[in-house]
Amino acid sequence: PEHEPVESVRPETPVKPMTATEVKVNVSIPEAAERAAATGADGVGLLRIEHMILSLGKTPQKFVAENGEKAYVDEIVSGIRTVADEFYPRPVRVRTLDAPTDEFRQLEGGEDEPHEHNPMLGYRGIRRSLDRPDVFAYELRAFSRLYEMGYDNVEIMFPLVNDASDVHAARRLMEEAGIDTDRRSWGVMVETPASALSIEGMAEAGIDFASFGTNDLTQYTLAVDRNNESVADRFDELHPAVLELIESTIETCRDHDVKTSICGQAGSKPRMVQHLVNTGVSSISANIDAVRDVQHEAKRVEQKLLLDSIR
Ligand code: PEP
Ligand code: MG
Repeated sequence: PEHEPVESVRPETPVKPMTATEVKVNVSIPEAAERAAATGADGVGLLRIEHMILSLGKTPQKFVAENGEKAYVDEIVSGIRTVADEFYPRPVRVRTLDAPTDEFRQLEGGEDEPHEHNPMLGYRGIRRSLDRPDVFAYELRAFSRLYEMGYDNVEIMFPLVNDASDVHAARRLMEEAGIDTDRRSWGVMVETPASALSIEGMAEAGIDFASFGTNDLTQYTLAVDRNNESVADRFDELHPAVLELIESTIETCRDHDVKTSICGQAGSKPRMVQHLVNTGVSSISANIDAVRDVQHEAKRVEQKLLLDSIR
């Protein structure tokens, strides 16, 4: 008789290190949700909504004029659901629209976009949203609908805020859209020196979290265009001035029970992970391919902190 089949040896499942610092993942397109969830990340630290909207090929106003508000809201709900389902009950932090005017201009209906000398310093992020509350309301209604559907793992994050006045205004619009801001988790990206320096007022305005958008925070702190090759060697997310802003923000947030996170590219870099874990950040969001390394690096730094504290 043939010998008994040998039970195949299972390929070793990679063990996810337990860390006090949550390690999350960034997701740019809903299609990447499955791969992102498979990393074992503790949630999504940044889900960019841009792709869901810009891929419609029309400005929101034009799309709504032709297809109606419901169709537009449905598009957003469906994109977010794809990710929220994949991760449930792990949290998924969705950033409201943050595309500069030069990207809007390429869409059908984009011919009326303002021509700006510096689009990155211009009409984008929360500035645009607060300037057009009628258009912003469609996005907020999508969140409201998701909450009605039971997606209590969805969080709302506002880009490019500068101070508490932005937060108060955004909060009022959320309430108008039927979102209970005491019950839901919402917060801001810290992407400008002004926002880092205004964090106390924003904490008092009720944010649950602040997430460092170091791509922009570096650009605006150092006055180095993140897309300009001539000064690329000066784009340093670990510059002491950037780190100082991050550190002071984390300390203020800790005093106010506000969670801190990073969702810029620098969150995938070991040296930034070291700095953040040492400073006591609540979570780090990394690129899909970097999640595993960040988990291990966070673990290593946490263990070293623990050892140092008992020595
Ligand atoms: C950032 O600025 O770090 C960020 C995550 O946002 P974006 O890269 O989309 O500007
Ligand atoms: Mg940004």
